[in-house]
Amino acid sequence: MTMIQTQLQTVRDRITAACLAAGRAPDAVALLAVSKTFDAPAVAEAHAAGQTAFGENYIQEAVQKITALRHLPLQWHCIGPIQSNKTRLVAEHFDWVHTVDRLKVAQRLSEQRPAGLPPLQVCLQVNVDGGDTKSGVPPEAALALARHVAALPHLQLRGIMSIPEPAPDFVAACVLFARVKAVFDALNAAGLALDTLSMGMSADMEAAIHAGSTLVRVGTAIFGGRPRPV
Ligand SMILES: *Cc1c(COP(=O)(O)O)cnc(C)c1O
Repeated sequence: MTMIQTQLQTVRDRITAACLAAGRAPDAVALLAVSKTFDAPAVAEAHAAGQTAFGENYIQEAVQKITALRHLPLQWHCIGPIQSNKTRLVAEHFDWVHTVDRLKVAQRLSEQRPAGLPPLQVCLQVNVDGGDTKSGVPPEAALALARHVAALPHLQLRGIMSIPEPAPDFVAACVLFARVKAVFDALNAAGLALDTLSMGMSADMEAAIHAGSTLVRVGTAIFGGRPRPV
């Protein structure tokens, strides 16, 4: 096994252990391998060990990798901020997008999704702590945005994602993730059939899983440290 494959297994074991500790089914949480800054051969290595879903932040970089790896049955998730002038590339190349936080971007993705492709799978990014990423719709505006997005053609609204500010410890992280879960539950209670709660990264996946995450986005713990901060 390569280093990436060994680390991938370690992450899978962490996810299973966290599910069991939280009293959840061992397979309740999906793993998105965040490959930003790593090259196509690194992605292929992870795929050889059974990983199929990959997350990317930088659209241009992602499109190169997606094109280079066309021969593999991979699922690509956009998890980076989306400027309006990048929506076409996202609509044409990705399977999922986690970072929709305004209607204008959703409308462009809907209009630009090529006819031959399945609907783009969408999560709304929610900002529960006013943290400095500034991205994300505030919880009180999430329902209205969700209703609009759910009505757009060529998109399928699947859930919400969040990147809370790093918390000092497990309990503090659980409190923030619980706020995201509360938004998720409120949207479902309002009639939206959402199945994806995208939260948790290398450092805090256990807390996210404890709070109800269904998908963790993990980069460093699989691929190693990144050459540049992101
Ligand atoms: C980079 C990134 C991740 C992965 O972070 P790690 O700490 O390397 O696991 C997850 N989600 C988003 C949105 C990211 O930008």
